Amino acid sequence: MTRFSAWSVFCNGLTGQKGWDRQWRDPEPKSGYEVVIVGGGIHGLATACYLARNHGITNIAVLEKGWIGGGNAGRNTTIVRSNYFRPGNREFYEHSLNLWENLSHELNYNVMFSQRSHVSLLHSPAAIDRAARGYNIMRLTGSDGELWSLDALKKNVPHLNYGEDARFPIFGAAVQRRAGTARHDAVAWGYARAADQAGVDIIQNCEVLGVTRDGGEIRSLETSRGTISGRKFGFAVAGNTSRLWQMAGLGALPIETHKLQAFVTEPLKPLLDQVVVFGVGGTHFYMSQSDKGGLVFGGDLDWYKSYAQRGSLPIVQDVAECAVSMMPCLGRIRLVRHWSGAVDMSMDGSFFMCKTPLDNLYLNGGWNYGGFKASPASGWYFADLIANNRPHETIANHDLKRFERGYHIDERGAGPDPKLHG
Ligand SMILES: Cc1cc2nc3c(=O)[nH]c(=O)nc-3n(C[C@H](O)[C@H](O)[C@H](O)COP(=O)(O)OP(=O)(O)OC[C@H]3O[C@@H](n4cnc5c(N)ncnc54)[C@H](O)[C@@H]3O)c2cc1C
Repeated sequence: MTRFSAWSVFCNGLTGQKGWDRQWRDPEPKSGYEVVIVGGGIHGLATACYLARNHGITNIAVLEKGWIGGGNAGRNTTIVRSNYFRPGNREFYEHSLNLWENLSHELNYNVMFSQRSHVSLLHSPAAIDRAARGYNIMRLTGSDGELWSLDALKKNVPHLNYGEDARFPIFGAAVQRRAGTARHDAVAWGYARAADQAGVDIIQNCEVLGVTRDGGEIRSLETSRGTISGRKFGFAVAGNTSRLWQMAGLGALPIETHKLQAFVTEPLKPLLDQVVVFGVGGTHFYMSQSDKGGLVFGGDLDWYKSYAQRGSLPIVQDVAECAVSMMPCLGRIRLVRHWSGAVDMSMDGSFFMCKTPLDNLYLNGGWNYGGFKASPASGWYFADLIANNRPHETIANHDLKRFERGYHIDERGAGPDPKLHG
């Protein structure tokens, strides 16, 4: 396969772009594999890649019911950050950010990681105190974080509504400079290409329809492309986790599937250099500007459970109101597209990566709003779990039994209501 470099781009420019190979194969499924991963999102593809690279396991299939990256991988608002405070989360997300920083080189694929700063607006003295506590924890545990005064914020993000009559007056901001955005499709394609090069079979249009068990183990999966058996199985299906769980005869999970929407405006000249986040009470809104110039907005969940991949209108209104109240100069900008993805919200807002009641099944799910930033570390730790049949100490508490132990990993302190963990 062609290695991407400035030289290969130059040479292909001279020869009519005819020298590029297919980036991954389209193999027929074999009857059996050592490891079968269900879900061709970024988590599944990254897991396959790190199983091959870190653990030398290459007899792997990734089964995807549609096309790779067609789920949440290609629907998210691409924010990458590691501003987490709770043990387990902060090490995990910081490891992920470290992997992001070298990912384009590691995959030889430009994932367009842009460390443009993540700016959380603060709207009260109490919010500043809370942010100071959290961001000090980040600094003490090896990450970066800082507080900006109102003057520093005005200098860096001049177009926000700083008026005294603002609906939500701004007092300052908590900032992580190493955070930013990346190109989501490129991440999926980069991991797919790397996994394929290592010998992994990526099988698209292959929906898992049933699970055949042999007592306490999975023997095979019934798919739309035939029966596929394996020695070990991993579920990495994001919003469909509870469906697969039920197919495996395991009952209910502490997860609710909700819809989350994203929005893009018409392209504008450069206006916003950072990711800016606003959250007061139950309201949640964030924006960044894409490389094509469109402003990318995100808001709250649609507030009811669903597996649908399209959103409802009240959230469009809510997000538009937030955008205009935070940045009044956007009043006449047109929204051109919005879409939604099915996200698996857990009871404490943190993910699951663990062994399961079945000996050869491993679970990767419950990513809530935040699984894109987690993708590299998710693949890294999930591969480690599957290869070694034990959780790494970083993810040791991200199991299903943490609720029985009373060990909730609730970053926001929002309580056991999945809707509130935005
Ligand atoms: C609108 C929106 C905005 C978001 N913004 C951010 C953000 O800014 N930052 C951030 O960190 N996170 C964000 N997220 C969350 C993030 O996108 C997800 O947590 C993450 O993508 C989930 O992992 P994945 O990429 O593997 O999931 P997916 O891409 O959804 O992969 C799962 C795959 O499993 C496949 N599948 C399901 N059932 C089956 C089956 N039966 N058989 C075979 N295949 C199956 C699906 O087709 C899908 O392709 C956002 C999510 C949404 C919806």
